[in-house]
Amino acid sequence: MSDADTTEDPGELRTPIVAVLGHVDHGKTSLLDKIRGSAVIEGEAGAITQHIGATAVPLDVVSEVAGSLVDPTEFDLPGLLFIDTPGHHSFSTLRSRGGALADIAILVVDVNDGFQPQTEEAIRILKDTGTPFVVAANKIDTIPGWNPTEDAPVQQTYDNQSDRVRSQLDEALYELIGELSGAGFSSDLYWRVQDFQSNIGVIPVSAETGEGVPDLLTVLMGLAQRYMKSEMEVNIDGPGAGTVLEVKDERGFGTTLDVILYDGTIRQGDQIVVGGTNETIVTEVRALLKPRELAEIRTEKRFDDVESMQAAAGLKIAAPDLDEAMAGAPVRVVGDRDVEAVVEEVEAELAEVAVETAEEGVVVKADTLGSLEALANAMEEAEIPVMAAEVGDIAPRDVAMATTADDDKHRTILGFNVDVLGDAEQKAEDEDVRIFDSDVIYQLVDDYEEFVEERERAQQ
Ligand code: GDP
Repeated sequence: MSDADTTEDPGELRTPIVAVLGHVDHGKTSLLDKIRGSAVIEGEAGAITQHIGATAVPLDVVSEVAGSLVDPTEFDLPGLLFIDTPGHHSFSTLRSRGGALADIAILVVDVNDGFQPQTEEAIRILKDTGTPFVVAANKIDTIPGWNPTEDAPVQQTYDNQSDRVRSQLDEALYELIGELSGAGFSSDLYWRVQDFQSNIGVIPVSAETGEGVPDLLTVLMGLAQRYMKSEMEVNIDGPGAGTVLEVKDERGFGTTLDVILYDGTIRQGDQIVVGGTNETIVTEVRALLKPRELAEIRTEKRFDDVESMQAAAGLKIAAPDLDEAMAGAPVRVVGDRDVEAVVEEVEAELAEVAVETAEEGVVVKADTLGSLEALANAMEEAEIPVMAAEVGDIAPRDVAMATTADDDKHRTILGFNVDVLGDAEQKAEDEDVRIFDSDVIYQLVDDYEEFVEERERAQQ
């Protein structure tokens, strides 16, 4: 189908995909829960749909939640699809090309706590990938003396506070705006923001009371409508394209993929190509799985089989040979195309994030392809050479790899968001290989640099 056809048919606009990022404990999960909760209360029963790894909130529900703030006739997008796994997966959900997943993002910042390491990390990724975002300045209900105004836009609630309360919140909000400006963004409180492209809206919210959530949804719809439309024109009937969120063992199904489909259609029996840790996988979809409705969750069967799914959607794929599939990697339906051509496409996409490795250096491991890319970038910036970079937990063979380093300071493994397998830990101890792990990239870099400095000092 040509571009002209897709622009003429609003049915071809898929749901914008929204990622939620931010520092641990700043309220990402609570905010997602609140959005889901308000949608369930306000919307017709069943109107929101739970996907694997995502929640779809259709436009009519968004507009009910947002009340007078959203006029559904202004929008021709079908709603919003929120990726449910905040935090750790943010790096794979924000890849800039190829595996690009999130169209827009919410950066959650606790107003009491301000910018923290993971906030800064998220900002870097948002910037690198050019992802439009809004800042949810969360936990405004904890400002002493704060008085909620029910069902009012958050600006009105803000205006209704006493001078003392307002100035306390102002201080925190302007600190956030200052941090954003330090990161190269102009920003303002959302009710003063006119242009959401060059100017980031800061929206005071409470994931606890729900204040500001309608405003947040409104701004998200506005962002999606204005800036993301061309990318959301998809060929719904074309071959499906998606990104692996997680590779999971599922009882009765073996290794499965949790995937966000951002283009086209995937059907049971389709031949698919999936990025793997060693080799590109070509396999056939055995089953497409959706979570069962909440009421049935206690029953044995946790998933429903479906014949096909259209973008945008979160789904689980069961297929043979998925053991080496990589979180963050692309998934493509082959369709009428030549399978070799699709394999090449997937490999080209993986090559885009291939990490430059040197003959001598440390070993790095990360949980997803996106986070590996972010970690590799940080290593490059810090001028720490990398000998091997892979997605996955730290295993004995990584230790073996680290022992091949000539320089003792490189007998080191840096792991981001990964587990250290028991036998790897023992082997590392036996072989004098150091392991650093953290869920903050810059912590890893700092820890390593500190170790190198101390070591050099000791040698003098
Ligand atoms: P995450 O790690 O970013 O997903 O953070 P959570 O959503 O788990 O929230 C961390 C803690 O902050 C939990 O105890 C939440 O109940 C609390 N919390 C989150 N949002 C709010 C809020 O708006 N107001 C208040 N008072 N507490 C909140």
